Amino acid sequence: MSARESAHRVVAIDGPAASGKSSVARALAKQVGFNYVNSGAMYRAVTWYVLKNNVAPGDAAAIVRLLNNTRIDCTLADKGSRILIDDVDPTAHLCDDRVNEEVSLVSSVPRVREILVEKMRVLARDQDVVMEGRDIGSVVFPDTPYKFYIDASPDVRLRRRQAQGLRDQIAARDRADSSRRASPLIIAEDAHVIDSSNLTIEGVVGEIIGRLKMKGMEIS
Ligand code: C5P
Repeated sequence: MSARESAHRVVAIDGPAASGKSSVARALAKQVGFNYVNSGAMYRAVTWYVLKNNVAPGDAAAIVRLLNNTRIDCTLADKGSRILIDDVDPTAHLCDDRVNEEVSLVSSVPRVREILVEKMRVLARDQDVVMEGRDIGSVVFPDTPYKFYIDASPDVRLRRRQAQGLRDQIAARDRADSSRRASPLIIAEDAHVIDSSNLTIEGVVGEIIGRLKMKGMEIS
C-alpha cells in the first residue's frame, strides 16, 4: 500500500524519546475523536518477540527469517491500536528493560520497518488517526498536511522518564534513531516544531489544535 492511498486524515506526531509526544498524541486523539496509534509500541512488540525467540537483536538476517514465519495483527479498537504477534498480546512487556535496550537496533532493520510501515498505512486506510513515532511525517505519511515534531530539552526528557519510574537510556536511543540509515528520526521539512520543555500537555495540544484549524481541519 502506498502512502498516498489513505483517504482519511492523519495527524503525524514525531519526536525523540520522552519528548512528551505520547501523552500529547493520546490527549489530542481524544479531543478530536481520532484513533490513537503508538507506532513505537509496534517496534517494541517486534523487539520483545525477537528476544523471546532468542534471536540476537543485531542479527538482521535471523530477524527477517523469524518474521517471515510470524503473524503480526494490528487493529484499531476503542479508539486505540492493538497488536498481536502470533496471537499473543505483548503489551505487558513493551517497556521491559531489555526491550528498551534493544528496540533501536531491531528498528534499524529495513525489513522490520517495511512490514510495520505497511501495517500503519492499513490502519489509517479506513479511519482518522493521530499517529506518533519517529518517521510518521517523513516516511509513513509524507503527504499528510498535519505534521508536528515535539521536542524538549535533554534534561527535561530525562526527568520525565525518571518520573515514570523507567530505566531508559534515552540519549543512546536518540543517537541510534537519528543516525540509522533506514528512516532516521528527522524533522520533516513541513512539520510544525513545538518545544514542550516549558509547556503542559494541554498547552501543546492547544497549540496543535490551533494549527489544525488554521489548516482547515474541521474539529467539532
Ligand atoms: O516511541 P518509543 O520511544 O516507544 O519508540 C521506541 C523505539 O521504536 C524508538 O527508540 C525507535 O527505535 C523505534 N521507533 C521507530 N520508528 C517509529 C517509532 C518508534 O524506529 N515510527
